[in-house]
Amino acid sequence: QPAIRITDLAKTYESAGQRKRALDGVTFDVPRGQIFGLLGPNGAGKSTLINILAGLVVKSSGSAEIWGFDIDRHPRNAKRSIGIVPQEILFDPFFTPREALEIQAGLYGVPKPERITDALLDAVRLTDKAHAYARTLSGGMKRRLLVAKAMVHSPPILVLDEPTAGVDIELRQQLWDYVRGLNRQGVTVVLTTHYLEEAEELCDRIAIINHGRLIANEPTRALIAKA
Ligand code: ADP
Ligand code: ADP
Repeated sequence: QPAIRITDLAKTYESAGQRKRALDGVTFDVPRGQIFGLLGPNGAGKSTLINILAGLVVKSSGSAEIWGFDIDRHPRNAKRSIGIVPQEILFDPFFTPREALEIQAGLYGVPKPERITDALLDAVRLTDKAHAYARTLSGGMKRRLLVAKAMVHSPPILVLDEPTAGVDIELRQQLWDYVRGLNRQGVTVVLTTHYLEEAEELCDRIAIINHGRLIANEPTRALIAKA
């Protein structure tokens, strides 16, 4: 069984009388255990797809399964099986990293929240900043905190939406190392990016989306051999 199964997924936004087809019948599987890249230019539909998996956008048609759980029929199990790092950095500026993670642990009913919080702060190198207000953290620190937050309930799948957009080289390398480490521990990783080099360096498999349609889906080596 795949980690994620997307079948004929479509989304049309309607706002102010305008209709915009953001996803137009997309079908693919994300195999378990891989680092899977969803590549495509701005406006291709990547965030829409991720937001449907996150439960933030309602699909128009088609289906999606996360770890075997249909997002309509088993939304809670589906949501528990995935950790999502959103593109936009949004959290309460007056929470500290420790508080943010403990609150998240509480939402998921994670046993021993202090222990998982300590481990995650260490993993993303924020132990020093455990008690600082989030608003005082640098952009890179905030992004690391978001990754930690996504992993609080130890999901088997981690999804990152444009994780390195606007991030400097050094932090990008750190993020990649962390993602590789999680993958080595068995976590299936999905990331969206519009940088081909990033997808090439990190991903076992790359799917390319353009104008809401899937135009490629291959092992990274096969894709590069053709390019
Ligand atoms: P990106 O291309 O980096 O994924 P976008 O600029 O497409 O980001 O979108 C940024 C945010 O604005 C998203 O949350 C998206 O849902 C919203 N958005 C994008 N396009 C529109 C639109 N035409 N009308 C309303 N909201 C939009
Ligand atoms: P990507 O993440 O690949 O940049 P998005 O999924 O953000 O692409 O956007 C796909 C298309 O849908 C774009 O044309 C975008 O402007 C449009 N779009 C995204 N969000 C909204 C929204 N909330 N309302 C209307 N159009 C949107």
